[in-house]
Amino acid sequence: MFHPTHYDVIVIGGGHAGTEAALAAARTGARTLLLSHNIETIGQMSCNPAIGGIGKGHLVKEIDALGGAMAQAADRAGIQWRTLNASKGPAVRATRCQADRSLYKAAIRRIVETQPNLELFQQAVDDLILEHGRVTGVVTQMGVSFRARAVVLTAGTFLAGKIHIGPAQYAGGRAGDPPASALAQKLRELPVAADRLKTGTPPRIDLRSINFEGLEEQPGDNPAPVFSYLGSRADHPRQVSCWITHTTERTHEVIRGALDRSPLYTGQIEGVGPRYCPSIEDKVVRFAEKSSHQIFIEPEGLDTFEIYPNGISTSLPYDVQLDLVHSIKGFEIAHITRPGYAIEYDYFDPRGLHPWLETKALPGLFFAGQINGTTGYEEAGAQGVVAGLNAALNVQGKAPWYPRRDEAYIGVLIDDLTSNGTIEPYRMFTSRAEYRLHLREDNADLRLTETGHQLGVVPQARFDALRRKRDAVTQEVQRLGTLWAAPNNLLGAAVERQLGIAVSRETNALDLLRRPELDYGKLMSVPELGPAVDDVDVAAQVEVQTKYAGYLERQREEIERQRRHETTRIPQDFDYDRVRGLSAEVTLKLKRSLPETIGQASRISGVTPAAISLLLVHLKRRD
Ligand code: FAD
Repeated sequence: MFHPTHYDVIVIGGGHAGTEAALAAARTGARTLLLSHNIETIGQMSCNPAIGGIGKGHLVKEIDALGGAMAQAADRAGIQWRTLNASKGPAVRATRCQADRSLYKAAIRRIVETQPNLELFQQAVDDLILEHGRVTGVVTQMGVSFRARAVVLTAGTFLAGKIHIGPAQYAGGRAGDPPASALAQKLRELPVAADRLKTGTPPRIDLRSINFEGLEEQPGDNPAPVFSYLGSRADHPRQVSCWITHTTERTHEVIRGALDRSPLYTGQIEGVGPRYCPSIEDKVVRFAEKSSHQIFIEPEGLDTFEIYPNGISTSLPYDVQLDLVHSIKGFEIAHITRPGYAIEYDYFDPRGLHPWLETKALPGLFFAGQINGTTGYEEAGAQGVVAGLNAALNVQGKAPWYPRRDEAYIGVLIDDLTSNGTIEPYRMFTSRAEYRLHLREDNADLRLTETGHQLGVVPQARFDALRRKRDAVTQEVQRLGTLWAAPNNLLGAAVERQLGIAVSRETNALDLLRRPELDYGKLMSVPELGPAVDDVDVAAQVEVQTKYAGYLERQREEIERQRRHETTRIPQDFDYDRVRGLSAEVTLKLKRSLPETIGQASRISGVTPAAISLLLVHLKRRD
């Protein structure tokens, strides 16, 4: 007879949400157990071995700012690095790295294994223990019970997972892994609304069978960017290139000729797929006018010959996959090492969650990751940190915490999901945030690390690093503010000589830095304006804060205004029909949802800022 073992927090699932959740709970001091099917697959990237990208890179930085593992693991595994949108404004610049799949997994495993307060156990969880309307533990496949005051479920694509390759279909959590069928069955009996989604992955190809002649090489940036605020370029392994090729008319012909055997089009797959990561058959049908689609040839790692052809995710039958691959330039005799496939899985309506990711129906049970309707490692990891932290806070009897929309992309993600739900896999984009200029990659630590430290999820060393950075930025801004160039002084002469700028009136170094043609580096080419700070992050911060000071201030005022309205209450007997100018659609949506505050109303999809202004005017009149 086994005696149940007691923990503060149990996390089910060792994917991206699960590892961040377990680490976050353990960092706060909660005694934590991470239970997963297979310890060897902890931190496994199910699909594309890449971290970051537009919107996603912002999430990675925020996870890092809260003490998470993803950025540090990416720094140790990234083999091709780029800053996307480098020529655009700082709000939309984003870091992305192609990762070595094995190095990434090894880095996550090491971080998990060396985290104090965190234990691992390899078993499938088949059931939850419920007592007095609360979750109090889990039961594994071999009947072992583990007790905890809070449980975080992060089962990814595994719940009732069904894999499709052409007409063939079989149960699986992802290729090579079992599904979580027993647990899915139990969860369907609970009062949480479940539905089906799908996602897919391309066939993998042996690099040695590709003809690279005439294909476009895409080297990474030099110098390579770094993800973690505590990381450095020295953490990066050897760097390699990616390549670009394209589908041809023949590829599209092959696909069109096989649609009657595509599980997407025969009705075999019911779940909705990711809009922004469609399968190649979906792209060929939806964009019929296009004769070619781009494919990125991305290495899977330094010690493997497999490549990931990004852009041809498919669930067509294997013989069609062979034909379509061979019709692509450079892939004429390519050898497929693993067929592409689609997977359908259960997810839960995230409107059944509090914003701190605890289920409304079952106190003590938290959900994070793909099971909340998202897609992507970064979205999963971001939810993991919040769910793990809140599971620990719950056990410690403390108030829950989650970032607001104006504080973090994590706040945008959680608010979008819990307010509006999702009917298709949700991924992050910068366009989802209304306060983009504030939510930059370069300041995620300034936005979140201090709060994280107060909550116990950010260790002292990381907080000390933040303080040093913050002080250095303040000091440098103050120093530049005291350096005055004038028509008749030495500094003015130096600026004219070195920068070719006519100094016709007294102007300080901050004013100079605001000029569009100057950046911090150019400014520091004037020796009299030195000594320059040697930390590139500090220099970047000084530059952004100075150049965008006016815009940032205006956005700060807007945030303040919104925050005041956020909690403005709407009486439940409010008569929306009497608000002149509201469209019939918006009126209907408001009457259906009966939001309690203006903040909630503003997040109902279709309720525009203009409609909110009308509501505010009407509420004021009522008073
Ligand atoms: P996962 O990474 O799936 O991890 C789940 C973990 O839970 C696993 O360790 C599993 O073993 C464990 N587990 C599950 N059930 C149990 C149980 N009962 N007991 C114990 N352990 C359990 N993302 C994109 O952004 N774009 C894409 O195009 C894309 N395509 C994909 C294609 C495929 C075929 C798959 C499988 C995934 C794809 N993804 C894609 C999604 C990406 O892999 C996920 O978003 C991400 O891995 C989700 O992280 P997670 O932690 O929620 O779940």
